[in-house]
Amino acid sequence: MTTLADPVPGGRPGEVERAVALAAELAGRGVHGIVLAYVDTAGVGRVKTVPVGKLAATVAWGAGMSPVFDTFLANDAIATTDTLGSPDGDLRLYPDLDRLTVLAAQPGWAWAPVDRITQDGDPHPGCARTFLRHLVTRAGEDHRLEFRAGIEVEWVVARADAGGSEGGGGGGGGGGVDRVSGRDGDASGFRPVATGPAYSADRQIELSDFAAELLAACAAQGLDVDQFHPEYAAGQFELSVAPLDPVAAADRSVLVRQTVRAVARRHGLRVSFAPAVRGTGVGNGGHLHLSAWRDGANLHTGGARRHGMTATAESFTAGLLTHLPALTAVTAPSPASYLRLRPSQWAGVFTAWGLETREAGLRVIRGTAGQRGQAANVEVKPVDLAANPYLALGCALAAGLDGIGSGAALPLETTGDPAALDPAEAKARGVRRLPVSLPEAVTAFRADPILRDALGPVLTDAVIAVREGESAAVEGLDDERVAAAYRWKY
Ligand code: GLU
Ligand code: MG
Repeated sequence: MTTLADPVPGGRPGEVERAVALAAELAGRGVHGIVLAYVDTAGVGRVKTVPVGKLAATVAWGAGMSPVFDTFLANDAIATTDTLGSPDGDLRLYPDLDRLTVLAAQPGWAWAPVDRITQDGDPHPGCARTFLRHLVTRAGEDHRLEFRAGIEVEWVVARADAGGSEGGGGGGGGGGVDRVSGRDGDASGFRPVATGPAYSADRQIELSDFAAELLAACAAQGLDVDQFHPEYAAGQFELSVAPLDPVAAADRSVLVRQTVRAVARRHGLRVSFAPAVRGTGVGNGGHLHLSAWRDGANLHTGGARRHGMTATAESFTAGLLTHLPALTAVTAPSPASYLRLRPSQWAGVFTAWGLETREAGLRVIRGTAGQRGQAANVEVKPVDLAANPYLALGCALAAGLDGIGSGAALPLETTGDPAALDPAEAKARGVRRLPVSLPEAVTAFRADPILRDALGPVLTDAVIAVREGESAAVEGLDDERVAAAYRWKY
């Protein structure tokens, strides 16, 4: 479970003593430094580190970091809002000791996600993890609801010296990217490592040592891996994990990526979680799996509505569907996200839902007979790993809770690829294409008071400013250059 209490100056009750004991144990295990991890509004993981001897002091008083990172862009340029993006001020980072993990593939290091509070001891209104924590707490208090969440992780593997754009500044070109690049690399030097067919035994063998060490590292870190498999796109792999409470699921998604990257480096490899590593083709998804629970029961099974949903689960799913266009500004936050969000690439780019339908924005999963109490959930597909997982989960929950609040009902179900529906049929089912660009997503987001209210003004403004900054940074770039600009940012 996640610690739901906000950090306080001086430390939460009992935590300093706990940190003293923990630091001694960590030092005995050869840990020298603690990575304090959070994710910015652009979805880039940012860190500070402290020596292990400073863990107790950090638990008491936090580590300093500027709020300016809330409006950093992926290229490290800085956008501004009324309250963020200025060079002034400071925040305190507080590690969550319940999540502190010794990193198996980074000897000498442990890792912990952080909450951020102001120097006056108040929650920082721009802290995405605090936003999600508060939302989960409120859903418990107001609706007696709990949630379980899982975030799938897909990535493409390249050699550690792989080229492509390193540069930011919006130019991002990476010099002479070949538009007609096929599977075997392009003029920028980008070349996926594994070349075996999708889902193939060959590809698993090609990355056998890397994959075995990854599974070992996950096990050593207590990451409950469900599956690891070669994916669809060239050089692409996926790891899926068991569901947890939403904050823990978001934390773990960050830790999984830290672990995949670190193991890859040890094998002379480099990984990209970017929504698209190329201008065309199947991208990297970060599908969200969500289920609402009450009194220990999964509300997505055993009910009287379609596919066993209870009325609450149907309304939750309907809320997600209604807000899906606006949600994409949070779940698909990069210009590169829209290279992935194309029809018939299993990315779910329509406001449609269906049972086990991989092309609908929402895939209702009933689970296997005998396991439904645990397995039934709804999968949100137009989500990638440029998304800040705390913002993505928080906004998805806010959308679902809005559906519950209004008793929303689902429209007709879709089977097969919604791209194949004739326009009259699509209209009858309420099937619309999701935003085709980041500016379109921002327009939908601006028009969605439910998401804006859930986020509050500071995070809302940060989301809009950062998305607009990203859009401006790629102005005039063709698809290959957009892919190159973000390939090594995520
Ligand atoms: N890579 C696909 C995506 O962009 C998903 C493939 C799958 O269904 O696992 O979301
Ligand atoms: Mg997949």
